Amino acid sequence: MNTDMSIDSNLKEIVEELKRYLEFQESMGLKTVTAYNKETENGTQLITEKEVPRTEPMATKNNQTEEDIIIIEEPANLFDGSKTMTLEEIREEIGDCTRCKLHEGRTNLVFGDGNPKAKLVFVGEGPGRDEDMQGKPFVGRSGKLLTKIIEAMGLKREDVYICNVVKCRPPDNRTPEPNEMSTCEQFLFKQIRFIKPEVIVCLGATAAKSILRTKASLGSLRGKFHMYSGTKLMVTYHPAALLRNPHFKKPAWEDMQVVMKELGLPLPKN
Ligand code: SF4
Repeated sequence: MNTDMSIDSNLKEIVEELKRYLEFQESMGLKTVTAYNKETENGTQLITEKEVPRTEPMATKNNQTEEDIIIIEEPANLFDGSKTMTLEEIREEIGDCTRCKLHEGRTNLVFGDGNPKAKLVFVGEGPGRDEDMQGKPFVGRSGKLLTKIIEAMGLKREDVYICNVVKCRPPDNRTPEPNEMSTCEQFLFKQIRFIKPEVIVCLGATAAKSILRTKASLGSLRGKFHMYSGTKLMVTYHPAALLRNPHFKKPAWEDMQVVMKELGLPLPKN
């Protein structure tokens, strides 16, 4: 019984990892996948290629394409006539949240951490296992790499603010579902409104898609500033993607240097 459950859990992790890998490849512009799925009569494998449908960018107010800079305002219905809440008030409003099904598997709700007056805010997609256990964002392997990136920028972790789109861990570290993100993202928007950073960095396509309301690929979004409610927003790779594929460290570091320049931080000499 336990063995069955463990196989089931391992299988889920493999499927989730494969899904993330394919999404990542798609975000890099991959249009086709090669499937080795049939054997011919002489026993050799038949190779078929399937077209992966490209998702078109969601229509924005400016009808922009993937190549464009996205300019988006904070959701008016969330703030219309309401005052800016402090981080304490936002945390109080979340309470012991059961607004979406992610509450069922959480150990700790992961609100966010760091300097409430930060000039730089990092936004990930959701807590992982270590974060769920400790109640703090980015404390596992990805978090350690993020800390290194922050330090390489000439900052300390305490100088920045770090949070996620969803505050509770999705089971098996799966990508949060659209309804989970749309339920939880109100708290992220309130956090950003209070902190008023100079720059937001979205770590990975999921956070970017949530804030910028786009389906554009990570590859087309990164490397330039978009605007969220008057704040410059950079999209770059999630540290977990950098751990999986070190080739992406260079472009991610280039993204961070654009951010450093914007913040007036000294750039490293080549
Ligand atoms: S993920 Fe967000 S909306 Fe869902 S239960 Fe957790 S705090 Fe509530």
